[in-house]
Amino acid sequence: MTHEVVLIPGDGIGPEITRAAQRVVAAAGVDISWHEVQAGAGVIDQYGAPLPDHVIDAIRTYGVALKGPITTPVGSGFRSVNVALRHAFNLYACVRPCASMPGDGSRYDNVDLVIIRENSEDLYAGIEFDADSVGAGAIADTVKKQTGKELGPQTAISIKPISRAASERIVRYAFEYARANGRKKVTAVHKANIMKCTDGLYLHVARDVAAEYPDIAFEDKIVDAACMGLVMHPEDFDVLVLPNLYGDIVSDLSAGLIGGLGMAPGANIGDGCAIFEATHGSAPDIAGQDVANPTAEILSACMLLDHLGETTAAARIRAAVRVTLSSGASVTQDVRRALTGSYDGAVGTTQFTDEVIDALSRMVV
Ligand code: ATP
Repeated sequence: MTHEVVLIPGDGIGPEITRAAQRVVAAAGVDISWHEVQAGAGVIDQYGAPLPDHVIDAIRTYGVALKGPITTPVGSGFRSVNVALRHAFNLYACVRPCASMPGDGSRYDNVDLVIIRENSEDLYAGIEFDADSVGAGAIADTVKKQTGKELGPQTAISIKPISRAASERIVRYAFEYARANGRKKVTAVHKANIMKCTDGLYLHVARDVAAEYPDIAFEDKIVDAACMGLVMHPEDFDVLVLPNLYGDIVSDLSAGLIGGLGMAPGANIGDGCAIFEATHGSAPDIAGQDVANPTAEILSACMLLDHLGETTAAARIRAAVRVTLSSGASVTQDVRRALTGSYDGAVGTTQFTDEVIDALSRMVV
């Protein structure tokens, strides 16, 4: 059977790593008709926007996409295309498994956790403004009432919307994920001691939902303590469910537990649509040099294959990646440095991908 999948190569290292993932999927014998579309800063001149309508239309038509990272300008410029896509398709759940692999270069060999990040609200809602623009309006009045202070000039404000509905949806998703995947515990991460209203609501809802799943253990942790716990005892964690911003930060921290951003796959899931992409960004510092680690994107493609029902192919590819990494002989520079302290002896993106494809040819699961 031929699967129809949208491909967004992205920019920075995106084209290199999505190409690697496509090659590995083809070598696994899965027949995919790729519908390639471009998004990001590079298409603004041609289409007038970083996320053109035909990209949205393609994803709407096929309902599933493999995506490379797309650069978001820092501090100014257009809004994140990655975030815009999540909003356009209501991709409310970001799923990021972090599991140790032999030879991944990490300091740990016992990590097996899954980050479930809420994708639709929180400080990622993009509601920001200068306080000057609200003047003596309702927000300034509220600040005065709660803190006794006037909003000073040159003060910028971000709004952190946390809703009961979105909190319930993501926590329920985490528990259903735990059940479906044989996981034993869900940890809700928050800062409800300080943000009593927003994170307090999130925690309250998490506790209510947890009561409906007596077969899955539940705990909550304040985000800073959760970070320390992850670094000291990652084996204590199973499924973590987090509001958007903590989810972003703890995702990168957790990637660091399994060898770095080049190792951490991900999926953005909504009702009737799913976009698969690595946890990392576009890594402009190493773009175009054939040195990026494609593992995160290849493992994201495995999540895509699971989603398409091609579970045997996904398992074969994961096994081939494990064999390639564990040999230690052909790894990209990020892993090489983690293993030996130096880039010497590292292979490039293309050669690493060749090695995975070679291992795949011997892989029966
Ligand atoms: P964003 O905020 O857009 O997600 P980020 O802050 O996660 O981006 P990245 O662009 O992912 O930042 O890069 C962070 C660092 O990790 C950079 O030094 C980059 O070179 C490295 N890195 C990211 N992805 C990879 C990869 N696939 N292979 C090797 N190194 C990578």
